Amino acid sequence: MSNEYVGKVLESVKKRYPGEAEFHQAVTEVLESLVPVIEKNKDLEEAGILERIVEPERQIIFRVPWVDDKGKVQVNRGLRVQYNSALGPYKGGIRFHPSVNTSIIKFLGFEQIFKNSLTGLMMGGGKGGADFDPKGKSDNEVMRFCQSFMTELYRHIDADTDVPAGDIGVGGREIGFMFGQYKRIKNIWHGVLTGKGLNYGGSLARTEATGYGCVYFCEEMLKDRKTSFEGKKVVISGSGNVAIYAAQKAQALGAKVLAVSDSGGFVYDPDGIKVDIVKDLKEVKRARISEYVKEVKSAKYTEGCSKIWEIPCDVALPCATQNELDGKSAEMLVKNGCIAVAEGANMPSTPEAVQVFLKAKVAFGPGKAANAGGVATSGLEMAQDSQRLMWSFEEVDKKLHQIMINIHKSAKNAAEEYGTAGNLVNGANIAGFMKVAGVMKSNGVI
Ligand code: NDP
Repeated sequence: MSNEYVGKVLESVKKRYPGEAEFHQAVTEVLESLVPVIEKNKDLEEAGILERIVEPERQIIFRVPWVDDKGKVQVNRGLRVQYNSALGPYKGGIRFHPSVNTSIIKFLGFEQIFKNSLTGLMMGGGKGGADFDPKGKSDNEVMRFCQSFMTELYRHIDADTDVPAGDIGVGGREIGFMFGQYKRIKNIWHGVLTGKGLNYGGSLARTEATGYGCVYFCEEMLKDRKTSFEGKKVVISGSGNVAIYAAQKAQALGAKVLAVSDSGGFVYDPDGIKVDIVKDLKEVKRARISEYVKEVKSAKYTEGCSKIWEIPCDVALPCATQNELDGKSAEMLVKNGCIAVAEGANMPSTPEAVQVFLKAKVAFGPGKAANAGGVATSGLEMAQDSQRLMWSFEEVDKKLHQIMINIHKSAKNAAEEYGTAGNLVNGANIAGFMKVAGVMKSNGVI
């Protein structure tokens, strides 16, 4: 389905930001699914909602100089995109990875607007990062980098303005260093970052939230197909924060997780991945996933990532990075009988892969819905910080579970209402968009 207004806005984005492939990809997917909404609500064009929503409210790019252990000066580039504050303070993670650039941060920030809206909590959308690679760096180098990064970022963020969290390459260690530096410079203690340690304002279940949430979302998709995780074979890409806890929850619900990966390759364990071993390798030793086979002799390591999708499974949970699952891999999954795919990562499936899943009627949960549990629990962390209270693990997990059920319902209902029943890509985009667009209209032309 095409629409002149949508086409015009898409063209202008491509012209204004040439060469930003990931950003174009994310905007195209959202805008195309909004066509029926735009046709039904002519006032949206009059209010210039699409032109405004694709343009970030503010983009900050800054130099991050730091000194490595050999005494050499290193320089990285820091970014923060404050995308849309219609629903609340900008909220979205910080990514440290050599591939970080404006296209990637803008695609993530744009997605975040709709994801945060879907959670039902009052959070705007933003994202940030740096082309810094924490891999192979000492703790002291990581600390010096984080301190330098925050020495610029602190002027742009605040508990009621912009509240970053972790993402690829940013876990508890990095958040701790950044929080310390923010507090030192501003001389204020408030919940300016989420994903904090439990001894200084963090929330129980935040570490587990994205992975658990993804599985809760997938469980709802499976329920619609009158089935569950019990006895299912699951393949999960990645072995970071999201992948580990998705594996843990899937196993708790009776599934067998056959494989996990990192950027070097994947391990296949026919007896089921031992999550404790992966946790120890990744969270404690910061080792490569290939080390897993030293501890589990029956497991097999394969170099390279894409072949992970050739392992026959019932459920696939891509939890590593963008565009990691292409059309060919999607076809292989479908051929091998996969019935459900829930994206723990952001935009891990290419547009071709998404089309393969939708056409084959595989239950498909797009990242902005399926991985929203992380930011939702960050929202719960903000609420606890404001109250100076700490809720129990069970309380947070219960709220997270309910939020994921609600997100699934909103996406499903919106898809039905706009004539594409079962298409949760359209449903999530539409449901997320409607709320933000409504507020943007009420707030006038800003
Ligand atoms: P981590 O840094 O903890 O883990 C990332 C995992 O993905 C690692 O196993 C990493 O391998 C692998 N990976 C990274 N880049 C590539 C690549 N180019 N090719 C193959 N594998 C790769 O990050 P998270 O688990 O936090 O994030 C994973 C995904 O989930 C990202 O898309 C992120 O945006 C998304 N997400 C995260 C949330 C959170 O709360 N953490 C919330 C919502 C979404 P290696 O170690 O070799 O680099």
